[in-house]
Amino acid sequence: MAAAILCTGLLHNEAGGEPVTPASPERSQHLVSSKTLAPSIRPGLVEFRIGNKWQSGLHLIESQDESLVIGRDGWLHTISRTEKSESMRSVTGKFLPTTSVELRNQLRAEFGREFEVIATQNFLVVQPRGRGSRWPKMFEQCHRSFVNYMERRGVKVREGRFPMVAVVLPDARAMYDEIARLGIDVSRVAGLYANKCNRVMTHDGGALSSIAATVRHEAAHQSAFNCGVHSRVNDTPSWVTEGIGQMFEPTAMSSGRSGTRLVERVNKDSVRQLRETIDMDDPAEVARWVDRMIRSDDLFRNPTTIHTAYALAWSMMFYLAERDTDAFADILNFTATRPPFETYRSGQRMIDFERVVGSDVRDFSNRLTRFVADLPAK
Ligand SMILES: [Zn+2]
Repeated sequence: MAAAILCTGLLHNEAGGEPVTPASPERSQHLVSSKTLAPSIRPGLVEFRIGNKWQSGLHLIESQDESLVIGRDGWLHTISRTEKSESMRSVTGKFLPTTSVELRNQLRAEFGREFEVIATQNFLVVQPRGRGSRWPKMFEQCHRSFVNYMERRGVKVREGRFPMVAVVLPDARAMYDEIARLGIDVSRVAGLYANKCNRVMTHDGGALSSIAATVRHEAAHQSAFNCGVHSRVNDTPSWVTEGIGQMFEPTAMSSGRSGTRLVERVNKDSVRQLRETIDMDDPAEVARWVDRMIRSDDLFRNPTTIHTAYALAWSMMFYLAERDTDAFADILNFTATRPPFETYRSGQRMIDFERVVGSDVRDFSNRLTRFVADLPAK
C-alpha cells in the first residue's frame, strides 16, 4: 500500500549508509479514502480545475468524499466533494493521453532554460543542460531490463499509456526543493518515485555509484506502475511492491545482464540485513516474520523494523522469481487486478497468498530459509 502514493523505498541517503525512515506515515494512505468507497462509476471524460487552470482527464473513481481523476499527463488528482460542482464537469469525447512531443514542451516550460528534456523511446528525461546521454540511457536500460525480466517469467506487461518522466536535479538541495514543491513530505533520500505525478526524481550532485541502486529501485517502481505489473489505484501489499523495487537494485538486474548468474542478481545488502536481524537458522522465527509481512504493511511503518521489512520483502519476491516462477507471475498478476481502493484486509491477504503459493506460511518459510542460506552476502 505504501507504493500507492509514493515509494517507501527511500532507504538510501547520499552516503549509501543509514537507511531513512519515511518522514510521514500519512503518505502511504490512499488517495481516496477507502472506507467511503463507492467506485461504481464508469470512467468518463471530464474537465477539472487545479488552481485556475482547467485540464481534461478521466474520472476514475468516486467516493463519498472525493473524486479521483487522472490527467492527460498521467497525474492523479483528487477533487473533494465540496469543490466538485465548480471544479469538475463531464464532457463528451475520448481520453487521449498527452503525446511525448506535447509533454516535452510542457516540461520545458515547467523547468526552464537551465534544463533540457531528452526523449528516449519510453522516457522524457529532464536534466541540467549538457549532462549528456548517461541518465537517458540508464533509465531506458532499466526499463527494458525490467520488461524483459517480467515477460520471461509470465508476468503480464502492457504498454504504458503515458510517457514516463524522470527528473534529474543538479544536486540534492535542488531535488529537495522540487520534492517540496510537489507537496511530498520526505527528507534525506537519493531519489523517489511519486505515484501521484508518476515521476522518478533524483539528482546528479554526487557520485553516481552512491545513488545508482536507489535510482534502479525507483525506476523499477515506475516501470511496474506504468506497465500494469502493479496498479496505481489499488492497495497492493508493500512486500510485493517493495520486493520488486529491491530486486532491481543490483547492477546486473538493470543492465541487460539479468540472465547471467544468480549470484549477480542477489541483493547482497538485503541478505546481510536479514542475517543481522533475523535468526535465519530458525524457520519458526522466519515464519513469524513472513506471517506478519503477508498480513500487514506495519513492518514498513515501524522505524525499528523497516530495514528488515525491505530485506524480507526482497527475499520473498526473489525466491519466487528464481524458484517458483508461476507463483511469482500469479502474485503480480493477481494483485495488479484487484479492485481500486478496496482495503486489502489482513485475512484475505493471507488466504490469497496461500492459494497463489500453494502452501502455508510455515512450509513457504522453510523453503525460503533454505534458499537464503545458500545466497552470498558479499
Ligand atoms: Zn520502493
